[in-house]
Formats: sequence, structure tokens, C-alpha cells
Amino acid sequence: MKPEQTLFSRNLVNWYKKHARRLPWRETRDPYKIWISEIMLQQTTVNAVIPYYQKWIKIFPTVEALKNAPLQKILKAWQGLGYYQRAKNLHKAAQIICAEHGGEIPEDPEQLRKLPGFGPYTTGAVASIAFDIPRTIIDANVRRVVMRVLALKGFADTSQDHRIEKFLRKAIPQQNAGTFNQALMELGALICRNREPLCLLCPVKSRCAAYQKGIQEIIPKPKKKIIQDLEVAIGILQQGNKYLIQKRPSKGLLADLWEFPGGKIEKGETPQDALKRELNEELDIDITSSRHLMNVRHFYTQFRVNLHVFHCQFKTSPKNHLLRKWLPINKLTEYPMPSGSAKIVARLQKNH
Ligand code: SF4
Repeated sequence: MKPEQTLFSRNLVNWYKKHARRLPWRETRDPYKIWISEIMLQQTTVNAVIPYYQKWIKIFPTVEALKNAPLQKILKAWQGLGYYQRAKNLHKAAQIICAEHGGEIPEDPEQLRKLPGFGPYTTGAVASIAFDIPRTIIDANVRRVVMRVLALKGFADTSQDHRIEKFLRKAIPQQNAGTFNQALMELGALICRNREPLCLLCPVKSRCAAYQKGIQEIIPKPKKKIIQDLEVAIGILQQGNKYLIQKRPSKGLLADLWEFPGGKIEKGETPQDALKRELNEELDIDITSSRHLMNVRHFYTQFRVNLHVFHCQFKTSPKNHLLRKWLPINKLTEYPMPSGSAKIVARLQKNH
């Protein structure tokens, strides 16, 4: 390693040792816990992950416990984190780890990489943080920091990764590789922030080309986010004290989650028209009247949704189906749901 790269790593790691946030998954070397935290952190912010992580470790304390759990319980514990395929992959990987590796997460990155949900990032994170194997990792924070250190112009996307990887391979120490990787991510989160990086406090400013040239604020080039707006009509169907929910298909968006019937409001339709049409298409029933109950808004990664929720009267009940359930209000919370539907349940419970 060149002396300036040794200095870069040393300054970075020393800074991390002094300034790293104390987080529950940093108090352990248990590869299972590190794996769970890394998957959750790909979803959302550190603060949002902490309660999910703590609850998850309580419910599924080991790989074996995760393997033995029913998928529905796993999706329920994941509810609100989004990208439900990741929770399913955790389950599948736990089954393989128990069947093929005696319940122990393998140290060998090549073996890790074969497990469901282990892309280059997760493989590198688990190998380096849990087993101290010098594997580099690139996430959004690392990409931004190294782009600035090398003054790489352009968008922060994978087209930058070849040059970033080349730099990291030289900079990563052979020992304490996990600390180095975590330090780089922590620097991105706390100091080398997306907006207004705190360069004066930065331990690697002497090695940062963007800072030296004064162009750190324009690296990376900001991306315009395209957010789609969705208007959706939702029907609350009640029989006695029970409400109808149905399961989404096993493939596609929000797969395998449970929700109230309804669907997208097409152009030119009123919410009531859309509700009538959707319930007829989905459940083969005709609603005789509908009463507006509430509107619920929720932001997903690529769209924001406005749910128009109606209490519906209907003549004939929908036919029984494996993927439909009539449940009392206190049971609804046991089923994994998209966040918008979970908000409806919470409001129904409040008004009950
Ligand atoms: S000097 Fe500034 S731009 Fe460079 S790595 Fe540090 S915080 Fe980021």
C-alpha cells in the first residue's frame, strides 16, 4: 500500500474509534446479528432500523429460530421496512445455512455469495465485519465519500464503482477490514454528508481531492427523483365484527402481504366509481352504497399513495377463497400488511 493510502486508512479508523455512534449491532461479532442489521440498513436510516432490529433479534434470536419461523411471522416482523423480498431471502438463506452449513454462517465469501440475498455489498459487509476478511464494500455513503476523495464527477451510480473499487482495494487494511468499512460508511453518514459536508472536521481532508479543489458541494451531481402519485380506492367490507382482507400475489410489488380490497382510480373516475369497478372485478360483488371513512397517505420509495377509504354495503358476500380472510379488528394486526393498509387498521382500531 502506498504511504498516503496507509495514512488515509489510519486517519479514518482512528476517527471512527473516537466518534462512531454506539449501535446495538456494533456491540456484537455474531455474524447472524450483523447480517440482519446489514440487510435492514439497506432499507432505511439507522434510527428507524434500531427498533426493528431489537424486535427481530428478540423474536428470531438465531439462524435456527429464523429457519423454523413461518413466513407470515417473518413478514409481520418486517412490516414497514419495505422491499419484502429481502425478508423472504433471509428466511430462504436461514434454511440453506441450517441444511448445508450446520447452522453456522459460512466465513468464506464465495460461500456467502451463493446464499439468497447476498449480493456483493452484503457479502463484503458480513465477511469483513463479522470475520475480518478484507473485502471492500460500496454503498451510497461509501460511493459518495470516495467520489469526493478522488474528485470523480457525475452521478453517484454504479458507473463509478470500477474506479472506487480500485481505490478501496488499495486502501483497505489486511487487518481490521470490518472497522475500515464501517468507518467509511460512518464518515459518509456523519461528516461527508450528501449536503453540506463538514469538511473541517473530516479526518481525511488532506487526502480529499474535491476538498482541495473546493468542488465537494457539486460531487456527486444531484439526481432528480421521479415520484409517482397514486390515487387508490379502498373498500372496508364488514360482516358482524369481522373485516375482509385479501392476500396480494406472490410476485411483484408488496408480494404476499395482506390488504383491504380496492385498487387504482383511473383517469376520469371518481373514487366511488373506482371502488365499484374494483370490487366487482376482484371479488365479483356489487356494492349498494359506500360511506367515506378516511383518507390515508403514505410515501413509498418510488411513489406516494393517497388511499380513499370507504365503508361498503353489499348484497351478496364475496365467495370464500384461500387468499381471503374475515377477521375481527384485533386479529388484523397479526397479518403482514403494506404500511398504508397498516395505517388504516390503526385508524379503525382507534375509532372502534
Ligand atoms: S474533506 Fe469533505 S468532501 Fe472530502 S471526504 Fe472529507 S467531508 Fe467529504
